[in-house]
Amino acid sequence: MFDIELQPKEVKFCKTCVTSNQKPCPSDIKKDDFLHSAKEFLRFENGVCSACLEVEKKFQSKKDKNIDWNKREAKLNKILEKYRSRNGSYDCIVPGSGGKDSVFQAEILKKKYKMNPLTVTFAPIMYTEIGMKNFHNWPMYGNVNNILYSPSGYTYGKLSRLAFENLLHPFQPFVFGQRHYASHIAKLFKIPLIFIGESFAEWGGEKEIDDMIEYTPKYFTKKKNEKVLISGLDVEEVIKKHKILEQELEFFLPLEENFVKKEGIRVLFLGEFENIQPQENFYLATKITKFKTSNERTEGTFSKYVSLDDKVDGLHYWCAYIKFGVGRATDEAAQECRHKYINRDEAVALVKKYDGEFPKKYFNDYLEYTKLKEDEFFEIVDKFRPDHLWEKKGNDFRFAKNWSLKKAVFK
Ligand SMILES: [Zn+2]
Repeated sequence: MFDIELQPKEVKFCKTCVTSNQKPCPSDIKKDDFLHSAKEFLRFENGVCSACLEVEKKFQSKKDKNIDWNKREAKLNKILEKYRSRNGSYDCIVPGSGGKDSVFQAEILKKKYKMNPLTVTFAPIMYTEIGMKNFHNWPMYGNVNNILYSPSGYTYGKLSRLAFENLLHPFQPFVFGQRHYASHIAKLFKIPLIFIGESFAEWGGEKEIDDMIEYTPKYFTKKKNEKVLISGLDVEEVIKKHKILEQELEFFLPLEENFVKKEGIRVLFLGEFENIQPQENFYLATKITKFKTSNERTEGTFSKYVSLDDKVDGLHYWCAYIKFGVGRATDEAAQECRHKYINRDEAVALVKKYDGEFPKKYFNDYLEYTKLKEDEFFEIVDKFRPDHLWEKKGNDFRFAKNWSLKKAVFK
C-alpha cells in the first residue's frame, strides 16, 4: 500500500505548480487511492511534474482532436439500445453520494437517454449534517430511487481504526465500499450496467473511445483465489481475529472477475460520451436537488465546496500530508495553478497558510467512534512520518504541534 522505501529521499518541488516528487502517481487506480497507495511517485522533467505535463498535453490534444461529441453520443445510444428498459424496470445503476456528479449523471441518463437508473449510495464513515441533507435531497427532489447501505458502526469503526493503524489511511473502508457496492447491487438486482461519471482521462490515463467501451477498471474485480486485503489485513484475519462477520465485509470487497464476465456486468464512463463541465454540473445539481455547499472554509485548505459528506474526510487528507509532506491545500492550489486560475506565487502563499492544518472539527467524534485515545492516535501518526520529511520540535503532541517539515515549497 504505502512503501516508504520507494519514496524519493530528496524532496523536489515542481516549478510550475506547488506539488512535490513525494506525491503518489496516478495509474490504473481510482482517484481516492492516489492519496495513499504509492508504489510510484510523480516524475519530474526539467523541474516540471508529470501532473503539469499531463494537463498541458491533454489541453493540447483536446485542441488538436476536436472531439466529435455527437458521434460519441450516437455510440452511447447504440449501446443503451441493448439495455434500455421497456417496462419501467431499472436498466442501469448510478452510484454516488448525491453530490453534483452523481446528480448530473442520473439526470442526463433519465432525461436525455431515456434510461431508468437505480441510484445507490454507500454511506460515508460518519455523515456530516450537510452531507446527510444533500444525500436525502437527491431522491426527494431529484426524483430518483435510491438504495443506501450503511455498515454497522461496530464494523465500520473497527475497519477504519485498523486502516488507520496499519496504513494511516482511516478512509480506506469507505473508498472500498464506494467502489464495490454498485456491482453487488448489479448482481442482486440483475441490472448489468453501471455508470461512472468521470472520464478515464481525469484519472491520469488516456484511451481511445472504442477501447473505453469495453474497458473495465482493474480495481473493479478480483481474480479467483486472489488474496484481498482490507484495512491492510487479510480478509480472513479481519473475520477471525477482529470478529467481523463475513457477510458484513461483502459489500466492501470486489466480485470475482469470472462471475462479472458471466453475468455481463459492465461499467461505462459517462464522461467519455458526454462533454461534462464540472461548473455546469454544479449549477444543474444545485437547481435539481437544492444542493448546499458549506459556508465555512474546509480545514486544511482554502476552498469551501469540496467533499462535504464525511467527518473523516479532513483526517484523510491530513494523513496523506503526514506520509508525503503535501496536503490538501497543496493538491488544490496545484490544480488551480495547472489550470491557470491562480499563479504560482499565489499558490505558494495558500500552501503556506493552510497546508497541514489539523482537522480539529470532528477529531473527538473520530476518537469516540474508533475508541482511540488522543495520545494513542498521535503515537500511531508518528510511526508513519518519513525521516527525510519531518523533524521533531518540542513535546506538545496535541494536534501534532511537535513536528515540522524539513522542507516546504515556501521555505
Ligand atoms: Zn507541477
